[in-house]
Amino acid sequence: MDAQPARPAAEQLGDGIYRIACPFDVDGVVQLYFVDAPQPALIDTGVTATPGAHLGPALAGAGFDIRAVRHVLTTHGHWDHMGGHGAMRALAPDALVHVHPADAYLLDRVEAHTFGYITYMPRALGDTAELASVSRKMASNIVAPTRADRLVMDGEVIDLGGGRTIRAVHVPGHSRGSVAYHLEDANTLFTGDAIQGLGGGPGRLPLVFDDSRAYRATVVRVANLDPARLCLGHAFMGLPGGSGSDPVRTGDTARTFLEESGQAAKAVEEAMRRAVTRGDPGFIAAAREVLAMLGDDLGVSRDAEGLNRRAIPTLHAFYRELTGAPPPV
Ligand SMILES: [Zn+2]
Repeated sequence: MDAQPARPAAEQLGDGIYRIACPFDVDGVVQLYFVDAPQPALIDTGVTATPGAHLGPALAGAGFDIRAVRHVLTTHGHWDHMGGHGAMRALAPDALVHVHPADAYLLDRVEAHTFGYITYMPRALGDTAELASVSRKMASNIVAPTRADRLVMDGEVIDLGGGRTIRAVHVPGHSRGSVAYHLEDANTLFTGDAIQGLGGGPGRLPLVFDDSRAYRATVVRVANLDPARLCLGHAFMGLPGGSGSDPVRTGDTARTFLEESGQAAKAVEEAMRRAVTRGDPGFIAAAREVLAMLGDDLGVSRDAEGLNRRAIPTLHAFYRELTGAPPPV
């Protein structure tokens, strides 16, 4: 779990890049990044309360004015990364909101979350109490949904002025419209949730909501970019005994984390392949079998029912890839 700062603070990473760790919900922390330039950019906005309560004070403490932000670069359309877009637009009306077209539908409708990725687990398990609780949580964390100003495609360049450019890299898997932003002069890549190692905490798996095959291809593509600095959306874990959980990784630790991310995804794929190889046992039975196989090697945890609720979306994505089953409805 990320350490939560007592007071909102922006940590200088070098090259005019700042990291702001922002708490949300009960125990979540999302990592936002600010890029100093003639047209400053912000990578993601957290939830509704984040820009006013955390981002503004943290940037002020580092000598920046949140109202001067000109580009809001959305790594993907999930609530903990875009829930603050409406509040950000109110604070910085001149900022342009960017998102990939495949995740644009998530920006202006709370229902796109409630009836989408965020409820895969309760729908797969038929958990109506959880479904209601998640709906309430979305309504309070995405209070002023707002449309995007610009749709960013793979390869598109965003000019921040002063010779600073950011190139968009389409990195699907976690969500269909996930984008990594490559700050070219600093060879720094902001990946949001596109690359996750072993996931957001001990005992978990990387969260793959959309497409497990695309997720593995994304890990390879990002590794080939060989970023000098990798800035993640959360404090994702390396493998047990591996590279730890720093959300910012440089040089060899970035390379190691990308290797571990590839190994973790391959381990899930191989376990699922074994679970469905003699015929499809059904999703829940396959999930139990995969978790039992992964438990010892990767330290993935299991509850009394032999399941891991946080891992359900990922297990379902790998199950779909290998069986051709439809997404949960
Ligand atoms: Zn996400």
